[in-house]
Amino acid sequence: MIKNISIKLLPADAADERSIKKQLAAELGVHTKSITGYHILKRSIDARSRQAHFILQLEVFIDEALKEAPAFDPQLQDVSNASQVVIVGAGPAGLFAALRLISMGIRPVILERGKDVRSRRRDLAAMNKEGIVNPESNYCFGEGGAGTYSDGKLYTRSTKRGNVQHILQIFVHFGADESILYDAHPHIGTNKLPQIITAMREQIIACGGEVLFNTRLTDLVLDGEKIKAVQTSNAGIIACTAVLLATGHSARDIFSLLHHKKIAVECKPFALGVRIEHPQLLIDRAQYHCLTRDPYLPPASYSLVAQEYGRGVFSFCMCPGGIIAPAATAPGEIVVNGWSPSKRNNPFANSGTVVAVDEKDFAKYGFKGPLAGMQYQQMVEQKAFDTGGGKLVAPVQRMADFVDGKISSTLPSCSYLPGIHSAAIKEVLPKEVNEALRKAVVDFGKKMKGYYTNEALLVATESRTSSPVRIPRDKDTLEHPQVKGLYPCAEGAGYAGGIVSAAIDGVRCAEAIARAM
Ligand SMILES: Cc1cc2nc3c(=O)[nH]c(=O)nc-3n(C[C@H](O)[C@H](O)[C@H](O)COP(=O)(O)OP(=O)(O)OC[C@H]3O[C@@H](n4cnc5c(N)ncnc54)[C@H](O)[C@@H]3O)c2cc1C
Repeated sequence: MIKNISIKLLPADAADERSIKKQLAAELGVHTKSITGYHILKRSIDARSRQAHFILQLEVFIDEALKEAPAFDPQLQDVSNASQVVIVGAGPAGLFAALRLISMGIRPVILERGKDVRSRRRDLAAMNKEGIVNPESNYCFGEGGAGTYSDGKLYTRSTKRGNVQHILQIFVHFGADESILYDAHPHIGTNKLPQIITAMREQIIACGGEVLFNTRLTDLVLDGEKIKAVQTSNAGIIACTAVLLATGHSARDIFSLLHHKKIAVECKPFALGVRIEHPQLLIDRAQYHCLTRDPYLPPASYSLVAQEYGRGVFSFCMCPGGIIAPAATAPGEIVVNGWSPSKRNNPFANSGTVVAVDEKDFAKYGFKGPLAGMQYQQMVEQKAFDTGGGKLVAPVQRMADFVDGKISSTLPSCSYLPGIHSAAIKEVLPKEVNEALRKAVVDFGKKMKGYYTNEALLVATESRTSSPVRIPRDKDTLEHPQVKGLYPCAEGAGYAGGIVSAAIDGVRCAEAIARAM
């Protein structure tokens, strides 16, 4: 007999197969020996009461042999001699699009301005140790895109469960832990992503696809209103009839190129603010109602939202046990983001804490037109640089000092490796963002005991939460309305936010291209 059941367990019991079977037997009214095995369908944590519990949804096999689920088959084939499609950008969208094209018998040619995963590491070290930014190879640009050295949290607001599960299964196929298939908050971790991305690229090449690193798209070559070819920085002109443009939210040169070629792009609202770092211990205490965290519980996270002066303020990309990373893509700007290793074992908890901004805000600073949001974003990033301590040394302020308008006379330790410099965050942020943020951190402290503290540090600036530009596309064909064969895709084009939704959009665009071929 097979039964689906949900059980609630203490953290240590949830990690122990014998305890799980014992509880299943008790709840199902059978002998423990009758439980031949089970599959975990979903695992989540309920920390609402004093004692946190794991909730497991299980498929249980009683008095019959455990059946393994059939192995996932990504249905890849040899496409060496097939017709080809150019994909620009080897981020999650570009890579998942390439795999989907291969499964449909189409040969992907990926152009990536940055380096392969391994060579990219040296450029990240130069950012962290010497504050040097390589504009072609950094936390946003290079193999795997912003996804490779990201945190690898795989939750998404996408409601199409089938699509999400497909993306997660591909990650597992290429080396991610199976737990991402059932965890309520799946997480891969920065240390594990590079091998997974490398395995994807090796598979794409083994199937006959092509990946060109250090190769930037510099122009689109049109025949009237149709794509005829792409011009590249070092692979010359590549003829093609379809281009999947998945260049991410930081490819400012692409937004400018389209705008200057009079290919429509639109101004898009986004959100901007700071990264806030607390000692992880404080977050654990607040969320698990304890003095020290049960070792069987993961480091705690939070998700906070508020409406302040009519604006949304929210925490974003929370990294428990994480590190604040320098995510600038050009010299002269400071941008921060966050990541954590799979074990989430750093003593800090950080999250982006950002305020919604739109065209009306951009106009206050004289920025108008489709690129106004990008210019506003650039203005703030440059201010962060000017207010910081030189190179990538970030301006920071303790939380209560920020609210009280005092420069912090001492600073706590911080995970941000390029260094920190005591400054007034209000000098960095636009007035409207500063005011809303100031009110929000106090309100967040009322919602979450221990959040509002001078032990927390605000690090400026978290500005690349989503694209400040949208590249329009037809809702059915997914082609740009003016250019036949141009498929704006994922985060950079304004259709995704995060790894999973970018991957889903990559797959969608690949399928749209296949239908049109
Ligand atoms: C530090 C950090 C942590 C993050 N943590 C998470 C997380 O935990 N969970 C989550 O869901 N999301 C996270 N994100 C965001 C996530 O990485 C992005 O949402 C996702 O990578 C977007 O995918 P994409 O394919 O649309 O674009 P990108 O990943 O940005 O990829 C775009 C690619 O295009 C390339 N490119 C740009 N211009 C050109 C050109 N002209 N020619 C050729 N190539 C070009 C770039 O080099 C890049 O590789 C994080 C991001 C960062 C930086």
